[in-house]
Amino acid sequence: MAQLFFKYGAMNSGKTIEILKVAHNYEEQNKPVVLMTSGIDTRDGVGVVSSRIGLKREAIPIFEDTDVFEVIQKMDHKPYCVLIDEAQFLKKKHVIEFTRIVDELNIPVMAFGLKNDFRNELFEGSKYLLLYADKIEEMKTICWFCHKKAMMNLHYIDGKPVYEGDQVQIGGNEAYYPVCRKHYFHPLMITEGE
Ligand SMILES: [Zn+2]
Repeated sequence: MAQLFFKYGAMNSGKTIEILKVAHNYEEQNKPVVLMTSGIDTRDGVGVVSSRIGLKREAIPIFEDTDVFEVIQKMDHKPYCVLIDEAQFLKKKHVIEFTRIVDELNIPVMAFGLKNDFRNELFEGSKYLLLYADKIEEMKTICWFCHKKAMMNLHYIDGKPVYEGDQVQIGGNEAYYPVCRKHYFHPLMITEGE
């Protein structure tokens, strides 16, 4: 039976690389997959899954009014797996649509994303994936400042940590850092050029 997976991790925990790896593994066995990503992440243009080590591929963008279930159901050739990047930015309705892809079309869905935003609140997409996923897995990375596990994402603006503001502020590597709980509350200076 197909399942809904949610794999979450802090910034730089290798989520996108994992998506590209899973896609590659399926395709090596001639099993096509579908890649989708949030339409609000425009860092590399809409509809691109891209990792910080430079690998990238095209993906179907998911906008607020996209019915993800319908997109997959209408396909002439059903994919063996649906892979979702930046799932934190999705809405509750998208997560419910994922469950229908799994339960009605019997296609596994693997969603990847951040769990908590820089204010340390749950993103909407992540909240409902935590509630509806069959399998939940943490992807680990270490704190920017020490060797503990990074649990949170620290947001810097002009070299200063920020804990308030709009949830969605798409930034590059220069603005967000994976940190442990201690360094979330007591961050160190970020040096120039990092
Ligand atoms: Zn730390």
